[in-house]
Amino acid sequence: MINDRNAPPGRRLLLAAGLSLLCPGAVTRADAATDTPGPVPEVERLVQGGPMALALTFDDGPSPVYTPRVLAVLRRYGVTATFFMLGANAEKYPWVVRQVVEEGHVLGNHTWSHPTLRRLPAAEVRDEIQRTNDVLARTGGGPPPALFRAPGGHFVPAALRACAEFRLRAVRWSIDTADWTNPGVDRIADAVLSRAGTGSIVLHHDGFLSRSAVPEHEGRADRSQTVAALRCYLPQLLDRGYRFTTPVRRTDPSV
Ligand SMILES: [Zn+2]
Repeated sequence: MINDRNAPPGRRLLLAAGLSLLCPGAVTRADAATDTPGPVPEVERLVQGGPMALALTFDDGPSPVYTPRVLAVLRRYGVTATFFMLGANAEKYPWVVRQVVEEGHVLGNHTWSHPTLRRLPAAEVRDEIQRTNDVLARTGGGPPPALFRAPGGHFVPAALRACAEFRLRAVRWSIDTADWTNPGVDRIADAVLSRAGTGSIVLHHDGFLSRSAVPEHEGRADRSQTVAALRCYLPQLLDRGYRFTTPVRRTDPSV
């Protein structure tokens, strides 16, 4: 693996994936899996929905406590979002998965157990992604997800090969609110309001890997600041004229 710390993140990823910088869509012989139907996808950092379109994304759910609260705020403002769920949480809280789908939001795959993918053998990376696709299709009542986000943004080559195999688009983010650190409602809202632009993909967290029967009682699982920040900034973004889309919609390929 080439380690070029001076390269921008996207370029480092291409380097890490062994892809040509001149031809980012090309797949080297070593990276090409014989059973993959298409080229390894590039990791998308912006959403394509036309001028003033941006995307809200929520990782690490579903949570039986905070996901419904997030949904209530989104419903109030008529906003659609993408939920990159953990398979383990989806299996534990299938009714929350169904509520997300019924309210018109999009499901994404965020692995089964939120592992550090670079420490896993390729077969286990694939298994993490396949099991999550299966449980989201089963509990969501629809087709498997079309989107994947690697935990921590570590889109290792094995994950990208699995994305090609399962026809998943790899989606990163452009605005990290760091809401999982509970930095304060104002700081979360300001991170969005100060950086929002056409194509922005906002990273939030509505859940936490559930290791106990009552995950909401674990301090790190508290997502109430995220919910409050949404209430604060959503009306302001709407006033500015922003529209909310998801990475699966491509209404304007020129953007
Ligand atoms: Zn995550």
